[in-house]
Amino acid sequence: MIDQASAEPTVLLVDDNAQNLKVLYETLKDRGYRLLIANDGEKALTLAKRHLPEVILLDIMMPDMDGWQVCEHLKADPATADSAVVFLSALDDMDAKLRAFSLGGADYIAKPFQAQEVIARVSTHARVIRLERDLQQRNRQLEGDQTRILNAINEGIYGLDERGNIMFANPAAAMISGCGIEDLIGRNFFRLHFRAGQGDVLHDFNEDLLEAAAGLPVQATCHQGVAEHQRGVTFYRMDGSSFPAEYRATPKRDGEVLSGAVVVFRDITVELENEQALDDARGMVQDQREQLAHASRLATTGEMAAGFAHEVNQPLTAITNYARVALRLLTAEQPDHALVVQTLEKIEAQSHRASEVIRRIRSFVRKPASGKDVLSVAALLEETRQFAEVDARNNDGGVEVQVADDIPDVLADPIQVQQVALNLIRNALESTRSAGSREPVLVNVRVADPGFVRIEVSDHGVGLPEDSEQRLFLPFFSTKEEGMGIGLTLCRSLIQAQGGEIGFERPESGGALFYFTLPVAQTLAEAGEA
Ligand code: ADP
Repeated sequence: MIDQASAEPTVLLVDDNAQNLKVLYETLKDRGYRLLIANDGEKALTLAKRHLPEVILLDIMMPDMDGWQVCEHLKADPATADSAVVFLSALDDMDAKLRAFSLGGADYIAKPFQAQEVIARVSTHARVIRLERDLQQRNRQLEGDQTRILNAINEGIYGLDERGNIMFANPAAAMISGCGIEDLIGRNFFRLHFRAGQGDVLHDFNEDLLEAAAGLPVQATCHQGVAEHQRGVTFYRMDGSSFPAEYRATPKRDGEVLSGAVVVFRDITVELENEQALDDARGMVQDQREQLAHASRLATTGEMAAGFAHEVNQPLTAITNYARVALRLLTAEQPDHALVVQTLEKIEAQSHRASEVIRRIRSFVRKPASGKDVLSVAALLEETRQFAEVDARNNDGGVEVQVADDIPDVLADPIQVQQVALNLIRNALESTRSAGSREPVLVNVRVADPGFVRIEVSDHGVGLPEDSEQRLFLPFFSTKEEGMGIGLTLCRSLIQAQGGEIGFERPESGGALFYFTLPVAQTLAEAGEA
């Protein structure tokens, strides 16, 4: 059994002379060593192999196998090669010493020896060998750790030289490339993984052309020492099939000199598929949200139909009356032209009023929503107020819009924002009416957290139900007899799609306050800075 890790250094004493062995033993005993003895070369080798001594004190002149031969055997066997062999001999000539060192001996002590000298030299060599072994042990451990880490990593790792030749590859690199590690080592990364031009494999190019095939991934790292990171690059496998990859290439340097690159890469086929599926799902949700929003706008328009009819009817009645006046004026004996002109102008103004109502309805029910735009909140809310007024008259209430002067434009979908504002205003009007109040619904606009405009709709109506926090924005929650309870759910979904937030508060003065935020549109200059 190998007991390399024993606490005391092991010293093997080899001499065919029992007396010499005894003296050596006496000299070194009780000095913190484990002492082994062998009286011939064979035994010495067996003990050395079994106990891996730090130091071997080796006599040269022995029958059968002399010290030189023992040393040669020891050094030839990797297991025993690192022991410090200290020759002990009466041959005190230069040749013997030189031979001792040339055979890998660590030291030479001439007989008869001084006890202190033996003690000192053994101690030095034992310490040095111990340290060396510790160091080797630690190196092996580190290498083992590194290998385990490299083997465990799912990403492929290549070490490339400056021409792109693969010097190192981990198991994942081999798996991704569809071959063994041994097939990768020595191959050229660019030729293996890329094709140039019309599908010509890079094998067909000579070195110069390969150099010239600039722009290939990792080339700038190998040649100019520029770190790279790319996603969605096509890598070819050994069998000619390909896969989309993400890679990072880091330059490798020996001191100041660029000596190649380390490339970490992975196959992102599944990732891309998942992303695509996620994108599709997002698209579907977006479509459905827009369809629902559209259906809801149609429903709102339906609910407001009576108001619209009234709104259009008024100018139409006026137009009929003015037309009669105009006719009468024209059929008079001496038509008053100026009055006719005035009357016709009134007809024009009234028809404009009617067509405005129709324009608003048409733009509101337009499908699909028009997409995000840079909007003036003030203009949009004014339009919404006029639209809501149709309801307001129905409900006998009023809407007041207050927009501070310094409100920046926002980036949002105009129809969807209008839909949200109209929904909140109509809810507020309805609540006001239920409370029998005549207080107008207030729409306030201010700048909120940096980068957001906050629109608040407050009323003095019946106030919010007790457990609103949990339920208000849930689909189909309604306290109204004919309510569908999808208005606020839809509002939240639409505002989130604009990148804003929606919520409510209970003002101390009673009633309810709903708010939503919209992101401020970046100016071109700001976008450039970002
Ligand atoms: P619906 O209007 O069809 O009921 P909503 O989702 O728009 O659907 O509203 C859900 C519920 O939220 C309403 O039934 C009502 O109870 C409450 N609510 C919304 N706005 C107000 C408000 N301004 N004041 C009081 N309650 C409100």
